[in-house]
Amino acid sequence: MAGPLTTETIAAIATPPGAGGIGIVRISGPGALSILRALFRPRRPVRDFVSHRLYYGTLVDGRQQAIDEILAVYMQAPATYTREDVVELHSHGSWLVLQTILAEVLAAGARAAGPGEFTKRAFLAGRIDLTRAEAVMELIGARSAGGLRLAVNQLQGGLADRVEAVRQALVRLLAVIEVAIDFPDDEVEILDPGRLRVSLAQEVTGPLEHLIGLADQGRILREGVQVVIAGRPNVGKSSLLNGLLQEERALVTSVPGTTRDTIEESIVIHSVPVRLVDTAGIREEGDRVERLGIERARRKVADADLVLFLVDAAAGVGDDDRELYRLVRDRDHLLVVNKIDRLDNGADVAGLETLAGIRPVVRISARTGQGLDRLRAAIHERICGDTMDLDDGLPCAPNVRHRAALVSALESCRRLEKALERTEPADLLAVEIQDALDHLGEIVGLTTPEDVLDRIFAEFCIGK
Ligand code: GDP
Repeated sequence: MAGPLTTETIAAIATPPGAGGIGIVRISGPGALSILRALFRPRRPVRDFVSHRLYYGTLVDGRQQAIDEILAVYMQAPATYTREDVVELHSHGSWLVLQTILAEVLAAGARAAGPGEFTKRAFLAGRIDLTRAEAVMELIGARSAGGLRLAVNQLQGGLADRVEAVRQALVRLLAVIEVAIDFPDDEVEILDPGRLRVSLAQEVTGPLEHLIGLADQGRILREGVQVVIAGRPNVGKSSLLNGLLQEERALVTSVPGTTRDTIEESIVIHSVPVRLVDTAGIREEGDRVERLGIERARRKVADADLVLFLVDAAAGVGDDDRELYRLVRDRDHLLVVNKIDRLDNGADVAGLETLAGIRPVVRISARTGQGLDRLRAAIHERICGDTMDLDDGLPCAPNVRHRAALVSALESCRRLEKALERTEPADLLAVEIQDALDHLGEIVGLTTPEDVLDRIFAEFCIGK
């Protein structure tokens, strides 16, 4: 979306708070170069700063007192992130130095940038579409290799290109329909509703359905999944959590009832962020329901994407196991037999068949680590199925906002299909196409309402 170029010059600290080797103050707007001239003394005097070249020198304040030795770069519009003149001041990474520099830059005429304002300017100047702007934020905040690859692909236009292809197909259909509107006497021949329906299915509704189907994969890669470890006291839930974490954070003990609270940890399994929840919790002496922590387990299990239900290989399956299993059997779950190190090789676990039926069982020892790789693979396979092959190219997936717009666009197209079937007048068809185009335009930022844009950029950090 091309917007009016703003005349305000904005500035912000672009590197994170804290001490570091370098820190960067970024300035964008028509005043960037004059601010550089006012505050920067290059080691060797220069008459004109050459674009995209690093200069070494001293940054001074309004009274010409040195603040820091820095590297400065002037990047001339339009070959910049914002398509405006941009200056970056690379100082030592002291938060105090950076704040002092920023204060001088503001005193020299810039305004403090709001969250995401640099990226918003890049978007308003038409350098990137809205999905790429969102990808910048996702890239910065990615919590797993999978999430990162998703962000990179989106930054490179992986999603925008697919949406654009559908948009172009709709624009072509609209062109035909507009000709039909202009020549009402020949409307049916021009429209050729049968052919339009085929194009609509192949180039529009098919690709839209496919994209909508990818949203689940997006949710998994962006937000991760919740995996809950359930089972009666002492089956080894905390030990498994630790085994998967590969560090001893949870309290492990052979006396049941001492894991003090629900424990949650984040890990990454085959590129997917996973929140692991141990349901152990408080186990007071009391009736059996209370002792088993059934209420707590029920709540956790209700929120879980996947439950790991643990039984003890050595103890076999008892009434407590069966009672708790009732909570999980209708949920997506894996049956995990723990403590196989205490079984003679190949021995059967007593009572397991009453739980397992034909369900495959993963056998592990949380103590020795045996089978944990198999368990990780089984978790990944359950979460992602075979729809997500992360080793094969970069994933593409709409986020919640994109998905809602895709669904609305698809609904308009369904109405269009019906209208074509009923050979309704061309101007009615045009309304539905325009509607679908508007929804797709929201995704890439062509028709996105101002408040939605504000919400998206407000989630950025300052300086991005
Ligand atoms: P939780 O109550 O389900 O969280 O169980 P814990 O993780 O606290 O484990 C209970 C006891 O079983 C502890 O003494 C653990 O060391 C022991 N344990 C856990 N996993 C294994 C295992 O795979 N093999 C053996 N031999 N002992 C285990």
